[in-house]
Amino acid sequence: MKLKEFEGKQLLASFEVSTSKGLVANTAEEAQAKITQIECAEVAVKAQVLAGGRGKAGGIKLVKKSEAPETTRQMLGREIKGKKIEQVLIEEKLEIEKEYYLSLTVNRSEKNVTLLFSEEGGVEIEELAKNSPEKIKKIGIEREFNAREVERKLSTSKHAREITEIAGKMFKLMKAKDAELVEINPLAISRGKLVAADAKIIIDDNALYRQPEFAPLKQRELSESEKKAKQSDLNYVELDGDIAIIGNGAGLVMATLDIVQHFGGKPANFLDVGGGANFEQVQKAVEIVLEKNPKGIWINVFGGITRCDDVARGLANYKKEKQIKVPIVVRLIGTNEAEGKKILEENGISTQDSMEECAKKIVELTR
Ligand code: GDP
Ligand code: MN
Repeated sequence: MKLKEFEGKQLLASFEVSTSKGLVANTAEEAQAKITQIECAEVAVKAQVLAGGRGKAGGIKLVKKSEAPETTRQMLGREIKGKKIEQVLIEEKLEIEKEYYLSLTVNRSEKNVTLLFSEEGGVEIEELAKNSPEKIKKIGIEREFNAREVERKLSTSKHAREITEIAGKMFKLMKAKDAELVEINPLAISRGKLVAADAKIIIDDNALYRQPEFAPLKQRELSESEKKAKQSDLNYVELDGDIAIIGNGAGLVMATLDIVQHFGGKPANFLDVGGGANFEQVQKAVEIVLEKNPKGIWINVFGGITRCDDVARGLANYKKEKQIKVPIVVRLIGTNEAEGKKILEENGISTQDSMEECAKKIVELTR
């Protein structure tokens, strides 16, 4: 899970890495009301979106303190790389003399934490890696952070000692908060001091159970439909196409996605009702996948613990109460299959037994 810049900076500050003084505003009025907290005559107004390269995209503006609320007004509601700006960070402007790049990443292939450092920060690391890889220093950190060794390896830099100290704090943060990335780009020299001018931190999703402070933030990555699915214990994922898919069990759902693609269709989403899905869950599942306005739905259920008649009743009931305006293709096999098919037939829904037939049919009907 990615943290926003200001969240990353708060974490860095709690591990004693220097950051600029700043405030967060959700509206221009809030910016106006809080701006007295800032002593500097000039500020940086920074879009708080989960995307890099904001500078080039107009998401970073250096303005007079008095202009900050107006700049905030102009920035809010705009989009950067498809992400709507809902919040800005207003900070005392740094006098940047030099920009370093410094990051720590959990490196799975080398089974260590890898420190990356460059004298030429400010640009995105991918860009730097492509254009001048020789300018990136790579240091593997095994288990413990050995400051003497890191400092020696950074010794060509004028600020080797201070950078090592900051890297040590980042390493502590990484361990304590289960981060998989801690990046400061740029790590700037302003008025002779090293300051984190930007922060990008990614927390390992698999560690959220022991990092409760971040758990509420996880919600914001989900769409409304995804939140609803989660509340009903349904596994739901959104995609870009126009065919909604409901199935039970990850394997069957993946196979369903594949065969739809094979016949030239594009899934809009998929929802795994899991084992033992009941009448209510099936109705909920149909409701959720329809929220994306697909051109058709394919329901593919292999009854085991899940009973076909339960699924059929849920689907039939939903159709009766709310109507389904797009074509439906159903494959219903296994436990109580005959009963399930009968219920569907009575409600004007036909079924097909072959995966291939179903896939071809839904692709055709949604073309
Ligand atoms: P990113 O483009 O999303 O990575 O956003 P950054 O926070 O890294 O800002 C991009 C660039 O804007 C930095 O590399 C700096 O050159 C510049 N910048 C950001 N904050 C300040 C500041 O307070 N003062 C000055 N002078 N430049 C800044
Ligand atoms: Mn940056």
